[in-house]
Amino acid sequence: MKRVIQINIGVDIGGNHIGIGIIDEQNNIVKKEITDYINNEVTADQILNVLNDFLKNNDMSGVNFIGIGIPGVATNTFINYTCNMPLSNVEIRDYVHTELPIKVSNDANCAALAEYTLGNYESVKNFALVTVGTGIGGGIVINNKLYTGSSNSAAELGHMIIEKEGLKCNCGRRGCFEQYASVTALKRLTNLDTLEEIFYLLDKKNPVILDVFDKYLESLSEGLANLVNILDLDMLVIGGSISEYRDKFLSLLEEKIRSKLYNKINSKFRLETAKFSNDAGIIGASLLEKEEI
Ligand SMILES: [Zn+2]
Repeated sequence: MKRVIQINIGVDIGGNHIGIGIIDEQNNIVKKEITDYINNEVTADQILNVLNDFLKNNDMSGVNFIGIGIPGVATNTFINYTCNMPLSNVEIRDYVHTELPIKVSNDANCAALAEYTLGNYESVKNFALVTVGTGIGGGIVINNKLYTGSSNSAAELGHMIIEKEGLKCNCGRRGCFEQYASVTALKRLTNLDTLEEIFYLLDKKNPVILDVFDKYLESLSEGLANLVNILDLDMLVIGGSISEYRDKFLSLLEEKIRSKLYNKINSKFRLETAKFSNDAGIIGASLLEKEEI
């Protein structure tokens, strides 16, 4: 039998459900529970009581730490702000009944931590995960440490401006990266409903879709090259729903990013797609234990 010295709990609080996992010291999920919220009117009590029930109903001996990822801004055990969820200004310790150490962080930061720590990137020091899906989000690792900024709201990559006076964004500004380079933007530009349809027509060499897709990759590479140039990244990882179509875009995207790099001589930059999908949030949250956040 495998000897387990250290176990952590990883919690991923999303807009529709809460995922809770028991993670062993090899970073494997040994048990996982996904609970859908009863309805959209769910309260902080109801969300966090799912965690309380989990802690009550499972053997907690050997558990050292609870890490929690949330879609928003958090500082240590205090959730400053969550988007469209009843968890803003919530002190986790007021709701979760445990003496165990707890840390809360942004869910995209947790996903970045999981990709970085478990993606075999030992030689990589400066790393970013960029999720390209409904919007664009991500997390940044600098000198092997998660970079969270001075008020824990760093890495809002989707809201860098790539088109001054451009399309209006939900954040209140105009011309944000995600308005041009998210999967939502790609669907709008192609007038198609799914990535499956888009990549099918690309395979068929549909001239209209080929042209639109090339312009889309141009926008995507614009924002990503900004990021690589600012941080001198050695590894950039693309996650989100587009990453499932890796073979259809990765080399073309890399070529477009390379053509925009400031350092054309000895940049260590490499491009990859994410290795973990749905479990990255849970595993990443459990890894917060070693991070100073
Ligand atoms: Zn924006």
